[in-house]
Amino acid sequence: MVVSVFDGVLIANRGEIACRIIRTARAMGLRAVAVYSEADAGALHVELADHAVPIGGAAPSESYLNGAAIIAAAKASGAGAVHPGYGFLSENPEFVADCAAAGLVFVGPSADAVRAMGLKDAAKALMEQAGVPVVPGYHGADQSDARLARAADDVGYPVLIKAVAGGGGKGMRRVMNPDAFAAALAGARAEAQAAFGNGDVLIEKWIDTPRHIEVQIFGDGAKAVHLFERDCSLQRRHQKVIEEAPAPGMTDEMRLAMTGAAVRAAEAIGYRSAGTVEFIADARDGLRPDRYYFMEMNTRLQVEHPVTEAVTGVDLVEWQLRLARGEAIPLAQDQIRLSGHAVEARLYAEDVPAGFLPATGRLSHVAFPAGLRADTGVRTGDVITPHYDPMIAKLIAAGPDRKAAVASLQRGLARTEVAGCATNHTFLRRLLRVPDFAEEMLDTGLIDRHLKDLAPPPVPCTRSRSLAALSAMGLDRAPPAHAGFALWSPIAQSVVLGLGAGTISVAVTTLAPDRFLTEVDGALHELHRIGDDWVVDGAPTGARMHRCGDAVTVFWGNAYEFSVIDPLDRTAEDAASDASVRAPMPGRVTQVFVAEGAEVAEGTPLATIEAMKMEHTLTARTPGTVAKVMVGAGSQVEAGAPVIVMAEAVE
Ligand code: ADP
Repeated sequence: MVVSVFDGVLIANRGEIACRIIRTARAMGLRAVAVYSEADAGALHVELADHAVPIGGAAPSESYLNGAAIIAAAKASGAGAVHPGYGFLSENPEFVADCAAAGLVFVGPSADAVRAMGLKDAAKALMEQAGVPVVPGYHGADQSDARLARAADDVGYPVLIKAVAGGGGKGMRRVMNPDAFAAALAGARAEAQAAFGNGDVLIEKWIDTPRHIEVQIFGDGAKAVHLFERDCSLQRRHQKVIEEAPAPGMTDEMRLAMTGAAVRAAEAIGYRSAGTVEFIADARDGLRPDRYYFMEMNTRLQVEHPVTEAVTGVDLVEWQLRLARGEAIPLAQDQIRLSGHAVEARLYAEDVPAGFLPATGRLSHVAFPAGLRADTGVRTGDVITPHYDPMIAKLIAAGPDRKAAVASLQRGLARTEVAGCATNHTFLRRLLRVPDFAEEMLDTGLIDRHLKDLAPPPVPCTRSRSLAALSAMGLDRAPPAHAGFALWSPIAQSVVLGLGAGTISVAVTTLAPDRFLTEVDGALHELHRIGDDWVVDGAPTGARMHRCGDAVTVFWGNAYEFSVIDPLDRTAEDAASDASVRAPMPGRVTQVFVAEGAEVAEGTPLATIEAMKMEHTLTARTPGTVAKVMVGAGSQVEAGAPVIVMAEAVE
């Protein structure tokens, strides 16, 4: 066995995976070297590393995909090894070879193994030879339209067209019938050509009720062991969002078959390091050992590796580094035990209702609860840019069984706080509550079937709206001790908040510095701050509010987003269509001339407000009926607060 000595490792990656690898490397006494693009100069992985090297512009092609710059950084920094993480250069055989040529240890498999599994068609052919079941279909060299169409007919519709160089679901099209084939083929080819520079495709039988189950393996170049399976069936746009280990409903017989096939696959290519063999199982009738098929092998660490770590107690990055140093696989197969259950949720910056579009923005607040593993590469103030994957964090919960692990993840998600950009947070919380998920009835179509219930933004209740109003008015923080309150009388004010496409108005009466009455949408609430908590109508909430510029977020299970509307910014059109007559300035209401139900003509005086020794009379803009008097004489009001609300204006 070759013993490679290195005391430093360069992580050719960014974000959460770079941070995660740095932690293990340092725990093993290795010097961790980070690389970073111009966009990442202030990133967490740079801060965590012992040393960091700039490698180029923000675009991945100029930095994280720039193998020459990365190798130069490794040489210059004295790191003897390079860990690629996942994505970027992790499955690029030329980079693996270039590392070796530069005298660097690549923490991963050989260039040949990466190459062998790099193209889906060649990998399928290889697996067939090794006796591993593959999805029925066509993966031949003849790429003519006619040959591919015939293959689809032979396989039987529906079929799936896949890019042979594919990844990330790109270049993939499901085709329901022969009429749709030509257009789908053209689309898949064009997408594959653009993404991978290779337009070749293969044809697969569309598996009905598919479950994605993958096996974690480790090879030493000759022999391989497995670390059980993960289920990654909950996917949107063919990409994983929730992963768990072990797979729900897995039988001993099925596990034996699948893990055996995975080990065979790894040994067939003399695999070294960590890898994942992905299978698709036809789960029409539950998991059956004759209904699972090889899909592809990922020759690297997977995003979802923490669930395996949680149920086996193995640090997979440590094993990768130890193997790269020339050590043997640390445990024999019968020493690798499966214990308990773990679930991971991927928290993304994305606009779920818009079809899971990646979102960007500055994270004005990020906090993860204790009691949960949170793998992240960002902290408060960081920016999710359009340059890289928009994942914010992976949250991993474990427990003695699936129910306990899922419940723990639910609790953790409810206490996760991210503000500043759109996320899939509420979507994840709802997804974990879908009865089919709880009842282990998983398949890759589950999310699509429930999308209309999962996607809409969360709607805050009147209590959350009241908490947002306190934050918008700056009343959620304790006043300074010397402010003295005893002489104050109750103060009523109103605030207008933007919520989704509309606005809401909340009237707040201050009873004491830590006690308020609110009225919103006809509901009355009493809010009382006790210690760190807000008690609403006598019930503790555990809610937190966060204000950044005009944005207010109430974290109460979900993250409810509001905007504070500056009354001076309101457009003329807004003002005209608004039935409220608002205070034009902060001040004290001195008189109210009308009562609810009063009929008024245009120009009728409604109330007077005094501020800075000026008295201002509010008048009716149009003839109509007074629907509501929001504040009484003597009340303080903020600029923009509604004073009188009119019923529908009479033409
Ligand atoms: P990529 O490499 O682009 O991620 P994969 O081959 O790994 O593509 O497939 C991604 C996902 O697409 C799988 O996890 C599964 O949900 C779905 N899928 C792939 N092949 C099939 C198939 N033959 N039938 C049904 N669904 C499939």
